This record gives sequence, structure tokens and C-alpha cells, in this order.
Amino acid sequence: MKIVPLGPPGVGKGTLAKKISENFQIPHISTGDIFRRLAEEGDPIGAKARDEYWGHGNLVPDEITNELVRITLAKPEYRENFILDGFPRTRDQAEALDTFVGDYIPLLLTASDQTIRTRILNRLTCSNKDCEGIYNSVTKVPKYARKCDCGSELIRRKDDNKKALPIRMAEYQKNSPGVLAYYGGRVLEIDAEQSSEKIYQEVINLFS
Ligand SMILES: [Zn+2]
Repeated sequence: MKIVPLGPPGVGKGTLAKKISENFQIPHISTGDIFRRLAEEGDPIGAKARDEYWGHGNLVPDEITNELVRITLAKPEYRENFILDGFPRTRDQAEALDTFVGDYIPLLLTASDQTIRTRILNRLTCSNKDCEGIYNSVTKVPKYARKCDCGSELIRRKDDNKKALPIRMAEYQKNSPGVLAYYGGRVLEIDAEQSSEKIYQEVINLFS
């Protein structure tokens, strides 16, 4: 099972990926993880991406991002299964991904702008990078205040705020039509207005 969730920020890609990953033991990778891991491993392009771009808060250029995704997906642990989160963001990236791996399913999660806004502005994320716990101060309240079930502190992501939201949405609205046009009928669409549990069930039904 190779799944590539698509959709606007905050629509629930991370939550879905975590559930599938835990229940089916499928590795979940995001571009952020890819950047960090290859830099730590001393991969020359990975180190360059950190030292010249993301380490300073700058966007990693497409050609470097593509190369890092290519290197990662060539690792044996991703040969059979993976959930790739945060890539492709552009049509060029989608075309590149097709040259790295063929048999994956682009899965589009859709929800209204209002739903996305509410989800992002109330989102709480586990501070432990290995945990990936995601909560919501309205719809998925943590058992203990500001604490993940794993015991680590819950934090707000730096870009989950009213100021950054319109910028992130505009970026998505600019690039996603090209990605979706490129994939055309290959995309499976899921109504992400539903609860995360129902979204998960619907996805599982699609794959079983
Ligand atoms: Zn946690």
C-alpha cells in the first residue's frame, strides 16, 4: 500500500497517515522527516538542504526536494509500503514522483475553508517528533491539559496561526490545481468534513 495524501493544510492528512501507519505498520514519511533524516545521515544533498535552506527557515528548492524524496523512496523499507505526506506540492513534483515510484495512490482529502480554518487554529501537536500525536482543543480534546497520551507536552505548530493561515492556503490554491490536473482520474477523493474516525474507515474500505 503506497499512499500519497493530498489536500489543503489542516484537512487531516497527518492524522489519517498516523492512523494507517500505526494500524498497518506502514512507514509514514513527511518531507520534513526526509530533510532531517538525510541531513543527520550525512547525505551530501541532505546536508546542503539543511545548511543552505531549511536550517535557516528557507524553502528548499524543488530540484533538491525531489532528489531527497528520490533517495528516500529508494531505501528498502519503502519498497512495499509508505505514506508520503507533504509531497508533491506542485505539478513538477508530481511528475518527478512518477519517475521514482509508479504504483502509488494519490488520495485527495477535501473540506470547506471554514472547517480547515477551525481545525488549524485549534490544532495541538505533540512535541515528541516520534509520536506525531495530533489533537484539537475543540473536537479532539486531550485527556490531560496540554499533554499528549504519550506524556509529552502538546504545542501549537509555528505556522498554525491566523497570520500564516492565508499564506499557506494561497500557496495551496496556487499549486494544487496543477497537481490534480496532472493526476486526473488517478485521484481517489475522500470527504474530509467527517470525523477523523470516519475518514479513516472510508479509506480502509477503499483499500480492502
Ligand atoms: Zn505524543
